[in-house]
Order: sequence, then C-alpha cells, then structure tokens
Amino acid sequence: MRLFNSLVAHTLPYVPKSIVGLVSKRYLAGETIASAMATAKALNEEGAVCTIDLLGEFVTSESEVQKTIALYKDIITKIHEEKVTSSISLKPTSFGALIDREQCAKNIYDLVVFAKEKDVQVTIDMEDHPYTDFTLETYDKLRKEFPQHIRTVVQAYLKRTLPDVKKLAESERCCLRLCKGIYDEPADISYKDRNKVNENYLAILRVMMEKKSYVGIATHDDYLVYKAFEMIEEFSLTEKDYEFQMLLGVRSELRKEILGKGHPLRIYIPFGEKWYEYSLRRLKENPNIAGNIIKGVLTFGR
Ligand SMILES: Cc1cc2nc3c(=O)[nH]c(=O)nc-3n(C[C@H](O)[C@H](O)[C@H](O)COP(=O)(O)OP(=O)(O)OC[C@H]3O[C@@H](n4cnc5c(N)ncnc54)[C@H](O)[C@@H]3O)c2cc1C
Repeated sequence: MRLFNSLVAHTLPYVPKSIVGLVSKRYLAGETIASAMATAKALNEEGAVCTIDLLGEFVTSESEVQKTIALYKDIITKIHEEKVTSSISLKPTSFGALIDREQCAKNIYDLVVFAKEKDVQVTIDMEDHPYTDFTLETYDKLRKEFPQHIRTVVQAYLKRTLPDVKKLAESERCCLRLCKGIYDEPADISYKDRNKVNENYLAILRVMMEKKSYVGIATHDDYLVYKAFEMIEEFSLTEKDYEFQMLLGVRSELRKEILGKGHPLRIYIPFGEKWYEYSLRRLKENPNIAGNIIKGVLTFGR
C-alpha cells in the first residue's frame, strides 16, 4: 500500500486540478483574506492561536513582490482590526530573495515596522538551504530592534542547525519555530534517516529550553510531541517559553489532545490563489493521503 501511495504521489501533477483541490481543501483556508480570517477566528474559538501564510513562493517579478507586500499589509490590518489572535508567516522568496537579497531584507524590515505598529508578530519561514544564511542573518538583525515582533524557523534535518541555534542563543533570547524541514536537501548537509532527524530535533529542543529561548514546537509526530511534554515539565516551562505548532487540517485529534492538556498551540493557516503548488507539495510529502486522490479520480470527485 505504501509503495502504491508513493507512486500515486509522484503522478499527482497529472491529476486534474479540481480533484487535487477537493482533497486539499482541509489543508487550506480558501483563496481570500476573508476566508483566512474566518478560519483563524474559528480556531481562536477552539483555544488555538494562528499564523497566516499567503501562498506563493519563488516569485521572480518585482510587481508580484509588491503585490505580495500589499496583501500582507491588508492581512496585518485585518488581524488588528478584527482582533484575531494571529501572527503572519512569510517566505523570503515571496519577498524578492530571488531578485535582490538586499531589497528583500528591506522589504521584510518595512513589513515588520508596519506589523509592529499593529502589534502583529512576523515569522520568516525557512526555505531550502540556499536561503538558510540569508534568513538567519535577517532574523538576527531584526530581533535586536523588534524582539517581540520577529521570529524565524530552524530545521532539524539540517546538520548545521544545532550549532546555528547554539550561536543564536548566546546573545539575545531567540524566538524560533523548530520543525523537521520539508525540502529535499543534499545528503552531505542533511540527515536522511528519520530517527536521526528526531534525535537532532530533541537535541535542538533541549538546547533551546536550557537557554530559555522561546520555542515553537512544530510537529505532528507523536513521539516528538510526547517527548516535548516531558521536557516542558523537566524545565518547568510556562506559556511564556513555548507553544506547539501544527498545520491546518493535519491530525486534528492530536490538536485536541495538546489543547486539552492545556498547552498553547498555534495553527499555521495557508491561503491564497496559489493553492495548487502548495497542495502538490503537501500531498507528495504525505503519500498516505495521496491515495485519496486516486479515490477522488475514480469517483469523479463525488
Ligand atoms: C506550523 C508548521 C510550520 C512549518 N514551517 C516550515 C518551514 O518554515 N520550513 C520547513 O522546511 N518546513 C516547515 N514545516 C514542515 C515541517 O518541516 C515538516 O515537513 C512537517 O511538519 C512534517 O513533519 P512532522 O514533524 O509533522 O513529522 P512527520 O513524521 O512527517 O509526520 C508525523 C505524522 O503527522 C502526519 N502528517 C504530517 N504531515 C502531514 C501532512 N502534510 N498531511 C497530513 N498528515 C501529515 C502523518 O500522519 C505523519 O505520520 C512546518 C510545519 C509546521 C507544523
């Protein structure tokens, strides 16, 4: 079955867009800011906070970058006006990293200035390894000026991450989301073995907790979540020190368990017109649900 699902995952680009849309619906908050706000409000009611991500990465035109910045400003304004408990998450390649890195850093800086005025936090998502240095350096500069309003992400599959985190945690307090990592990275710079990634995840988590950094524990992996529960007790952490983070639509029973135990939880809400590319990536990442696509094809999406 695993092999079958995996094969299906690789044929996804040939599946009609409408079918991919049907299966992906639960992972997305629609195409408009209004639909993202409605999803965030519903999750706030459940007791979770959110982070909203406008889909659309690897942007190569300046006009598209400007459009993205304008939309993010609208999202921040709506979060503020409608009193939604949410941050925003953005990707460097949506803000011009492929065109001009200096300008990209300025675009992010200007957005953080705007977000701070509305008291909305910004997280710079971590993309693949050509952007790791740029992202960490941008975060490092911004956190000095905006300690309450900027966060970034580190990936446990990268061999460099443990030393990176140790270095970052030496000076000011870090606010980092810790995830496994989603990109297909070269074997010389990344761990490929699942157990090794988990081992590194826990080693990084321990350093962050020891250093009293703020950690977003971003995973749906039961093993890591239960280990994190133990470490939160071991270090007597409070809500000022950590939160769990999950993707919209993934493992809602785990989401309820985390909230039920009284832990803070943030849900990552992707939305926007560029939903198709995002959906393919998510479905390829989890071949077990790719089988649903074929079911969708066979039943004509009904
Ligand atoms: C809030 C958040 C933000 C993230 N931001 C980034 C980022 O900035 N950069 C980056 O590289 N990666 C990011 N990721 C993705 C992350 O790196 C992993 O690829 C992803 O979370 C899967 O890893 P896992 O820890 O959940 O463990 P896994 O072992 O992959 O998954 C554990 C279980 O969760 C379920 N599951 C996991 N993912 C899915 C899915 N997509 N659909 C359905 N079920 C699923 C499956 O049942 C699986 O068995 C983020 C993840 C989260 C939760």
